[in-house]
Amino acid sequence: MQMSEDLIRSVVQQVLTQMGGAATNGKAQARPSGATLGVYPGADEAVAAAEAAFEAFRGRPLADRAKAVACIRRVCEEQAEELGRLELEETKIGRLDHKVAKLRVAIAKVPGVEYLRTENWSGDDGLTLNDYTPFGVLGAITPVTHSLPTLAGNAINMLASGNTVVFNAHPSGARIAAEGVRRFNRAIREAIGIDDLLTIIDPPTLDTAAALFKHPGVKVLVVTGGPAVARAALGSKRRAIVAGPGNPPVVVDATACLENAAKSIVEGAAFDNNLLCIGEKQVFAVAEVYDKLMEQVGRHGGYRLDARQVEALTKAAFTTGEGGKLYVNKDLIGQDPAVLGRHAGVSVPAGTQILYGETPADHPFVDHEQMMPFVPFVRVPNLASAIALAKESEHGYGHTAVLHSRDTSVMSRMGKAMDCTVFVINGPSTAGLGLGGEGVLSFSIAGPTGEGVTTPLTFCRQRRTAVVGGMRFA
Ligand code: NAD
Repeated sequence: MQMSEDLIRSVVQQVLTQMGGAATNGKAQARPSGATLGVYPGADEAVAAAEAAFEAFRGRPLADRAKAVACIRRVCEEQAEELGRLELEETKIGRLDHKVAKLRVAIAKVPGVEYLRTENWSGDDGLTLNDYTPFGVLGAITPVTHSLPTLAGNAINMLASGNTVVFNAHPSGARIAAEGVRRFNRAIREAIGIDDLLTIIDPPTLDTAAALFKHPGVKVLVVTGGPAVARAALGSKRRAIVAGPGNPPVVVDATACLENAAKSIVEGAAFDNNLLCIGEKQVFAVAEVYDKLMEQVGRHGGYRLDARQVEALTKAAFTTGEGGKLYVNKDLIGQDPAVLGRHAGVSVPAGTQILYGETPADHPFVDHEQMMPFVPFVRVPNLASAIALAKESEHGYGHTAVLHSRDTSVMSRMGKAMDCTVFVINGPSTAGLGLGGEGVLSFSIAGPTGEGVTTPLTFCRQRRTAVVGGMRFA
């Protein structure tokens, strides 16, 4: 029943898209609000619908925001299996169990209305309140690596703070993103009777992203993605909250619990075949414990490649461009260890979580954000060199770093040296987002613009109200 209704809507949407093909470049077309469940062919139409929705939403109580957020959580939780499978079928990257977990487990950790607060000062001169209030319509660009989870997580934060949103998804994850928007909007309409709190441009292109970047109706841009889009957003005249790329290094010192370090590295790097921007991408271990650590990784789901096999995988995993510049081969991003194994010339046992092997520090797998479940392990003479190489490999993104050590002075030293938005000590990288660690979760970690792990407060204006000479009751 649900599927056939969705199919009909999708056909109607395609026909409407074809009929209104010129809308991408022209003015918004007249169309009854809610007819397309938030899916629009161009920025003008999507922004116009989100503006109308904001006008309706801003007059509603906080309880309605909470109901809208609850709808998104409920759809993610109840439909996680189906939506996770649709995302994997479309994007062809990552793992089904983790696609489902991102919707069922991770989305539950994204903070909603309860995270909002009011600060106040009261004294002889009266009462002053600082409120967190919405901007209006936000424009959000989302990545292919977690197309629906990023959209759902952004939507929860942004609706909790009272905004409405226009999304432009990655073209390779566009169908699942649009499907999510339809399902969320349908549930929200049933719950609070407002359409188009979330809108999405479908099909998304670089042109529609550019149109959103400069649309006067968009108050703030929220961009999650790699270096090119991060640069474009940082160069935009519009205020932008930028969640850019990472290349998280791991340092293992001589005091570390090697079993926990190995287990954690495998767990973090294996998650969704290492698609997470916070996922462990390269390890620097001091020589004193290197061999023992390698052995432990093999006991916790890692399959070790020898030098020849690493070489074969490297040839398949990178392509050479102009001037000898190396690029990650997109065909191997997010693929299973078994697939990488075939390129390395090995057949890996069922249940293998990651491949790993020894490499020098200047290896392409160390230098590039490879987003695949092969982790290079670099043997270093001492801690100073481990931290220096870790910093170099992170390329100044300031995104995520991981340390395994029992020495608190090493924790401070590396934390200061790396200066990253997320620093995880003695756990898998996912602990930095509240999965096995404390704290809230977001799929948009804004390093370059400084907002950090985004929350509803990230998407708010602060407004002050001063009541002079009264309202103090103590
Ligand atoms: P990507 O940069 O290829 O695409 C991200 C989004 O930007 C897509 O919607 C894409 O269509 C759009 N885009 C790309 N170039 C653009 C341009 N010049 N102008 C406007 N829009 C443009 O990244 P991806 O492969 O989808 O995702 C993986 C990357 O995103 C990795 O680098 C990862 O580290 C990063 N990421 C960061 C975070 C974070 O929270 N900081 C979260 C997830 C992913």
